[in-house]
Amino acid sequence: MRKIVKIVVKTLALSMTLAAVTQALGQDSNSDRDNENNLMMAMAWKQTAAEYRALYHQGFNLARMRVELALAQQQDDSLPLAIISDVDETLLLANDYWGYLITQGQDFFDDASWDRWVAQNRAIASPGALDFLNFCVSNSVEIFYVTNRDQGETTVQLAIGNLNAVGFPSVDAAHMRVLRESSNKELVQQEIREDYEVVALLGDNLNDFARRYYSTDVDQRLNLMEEDRDLFGRDYILFPNPTDGHWIRAIFGESEPAPSNENREILKNAAKRAAWAP
Ligand SMILES: [Mg+2]
Repeated sequence: MRKIVKIVVKTLALSMTLAAVTQALGQDSNSDRDNENNLMMAMAWKQTAAEYRALYHQGFNLARMRVELALAQQQDDSLPLAIISDVDETLLLANDYWGYLITQGQDFFDDASWDRWVAQNRAIASPGALDFLNFCVSNSVEIFYVTNRDQGETTVQLAIGNLNAVGFPSVDAAHMRVLRESSNKELVQQEIREDYEVVALLGDNLNDFARRYYSTDVDQRLNLMEEDRDLFGRDYILFPNPTDGHWIRAIFGESEPAPSNENREILKNAAKRAAWAP
């Protein structure tokens, strides 16, 4: 009888230990998953680094110099001046959205929650954007907002709402171009150039400047960029974006890859493209 009791007690103890270990392992694996979120380093940088915000000031300072130069060179018969700017991660920052993804344990962009977030008008102006746009307007330089957003029929209304919420000037249908069917911005650029001298293009994605960068080949994108090296900081004002854009498309073959382990492996391989192996 005592032997049976001992066996029961040992079995119970073993079960409790196993349960505790299983629970602990479960907590650890959840914690590991959180700590291994693919967005972590990029978002910590975007949320905290003064360097990240300084790059926006640098970009808008360069853009302002370009506008000042164009104003000084204007002749009586010159076309009026304009700048063409992308919206997301160029004029508006969505750190609030990307931070939300991390709190949800998500490590890839999620289109459904993005559409819900856009409707909340929670985007903030990028550092220096408001001053630069107001400088343009006060000098009669037109601003054209060109975006590839797609929230269906409400896209324009939502984009105008976001831009108005941060107090940007010239926010109306006449200054807004929404490209829902294609991300090719060149046709819109050509149309604007018929009536304006475009001083600079502003964007966080090379595709904001020219369609030829729309490539899924990493090396080709790198080479094309090098061919155009003289345009950066002049015709092209580029802003930093380590979380999304066509550089992602070049790695995965699509701009919004699914949160699969296969894609996590692809990302890891991209991250160790060059890796010392002593
Ligand atoms: Mg953008």
